[in-house]
Amino acid sequence: MRDFPRAARRAGAMAAATALAGTAFSGTAFSGTAFGGTVFSSTVFSGTVFSGTVFSGTAPAGTAPPRRPPAWCKPGGTLSARAMPQRVKIADCDLRGRTVRGANGLVAVVPSDGTSLVAHEIRTDGGAELRIAVDPRAGEITVGTDGGRVPQGRPRGFRAPAAACEDGVHRAEPSRWPKGATVQWRYYAGTAGLPVEPIAKAISNMVGARTDCNGEGRFAVPPDVGERNAGQADRAPNITGGATCGNRDRVNTFGWHAMPDAGRDVLAASCTWFDGPTTVETDMALQAQGKRWWTSGSCPAGSYSAEAVATHEAGHVLGLAHVEGTEHENLTMAPSIASCDDGPATLAKGDYDGLIALYGGR
Ligand SMILES: [Zn+2]
Repeated sequence: MRDFPRAARRAGAMAAATALAGTAFSGTAFSGTAFGGTVFSSTVFSGTVFSGTVFSGTAPAGTAPPRRPPAWCKPGGTLSARAMPQRVKIADCDLRGRTVRGANGLVAVVPSDGTSLVAHEIRTDGGAELRIAVDPRAGEITVGTDGGRVPQGRPRGFRAPAAACEDGVHRAEPSRWPKGATVQWRYYAGTAGLPVEPIAKAISNMVGARTDCNGEGRFAVPPDVGERNAGQADRAPNITGGATCGNRDRVNTFGWHAMPDAGRDVLAASCTWFDGPTTVETDMALQAQGKRWWTSGSCPAGSYSAEAVATHEAGHVLGLAHVEGTEHENLTMAPSIASCDDGPATLAKGDYDGLIALYGGR
């Protein structure tokens, strides 16, 4: 199937095209540091330098003494992103170390070390994003979440997918690796006996700008960022059995991870921690339990291409966000994937343009 044009290969996925909730981005090209919706005002990040020190949890100097917490700020347990304001004053409710639930049940632990976090999930029926910007200097934490599910049948507002090699739309997350950086990652094999190759290829697909859009198999100028497999990981990705982004360990860990408490539709999750505009760690987990994976040869019916799913996740590792809307279904960064669809393993125009916007050419 590799020699099929990408658009043709993904044609089957059109029928199950996605109409995601809050399709604020349909038809609009995002670039650079644009954020989804109004959730992340650019002022939250612009020019802010995080010191990276651990904060004591006391209110910053000069703020009023602690007030009675708002009703949504319950002690213990998981807090709902939907129930809280988008901007939370740390003096009102200190979310650091707390677990927050976003769209489609996507959950993350708010970092306590001064970093911020973006969590992504891709499912057989859609995707979800959860962004948590911690700004201790402003005494503020901003929480935004986005997600949708593939509806049954043709959704209202359906627009035919643009050709993969012509659709240049992309969206960036708040952070990226430094230009010219080599992302060192470790492989976590888990216990299910699944292979490393699809994951290693996937990282290489993204960094090497693999595509079906020309006869070379790659875009001519790759983005100015590299990757290196630094060997086996001692520990699992910092992603829990419920596909929750947990506490980071300063190692970029990608691999197969049993997530028995994740929703049954979850294929993979990734977490990106960042400090100001700079990514400091990413972890990626493909569901090693209860999902049928296509890892080599021909696709067993109902299986999912590990290389395609991991290539999508590798886009998150480098700083690409989801691009929603049925007309962008042929992008690797579309938050949906059909069984036996390996199209996302090769980059569409928008995926590539997004990488060049982030890193420039090498
Ligand atoms: Zn995703």
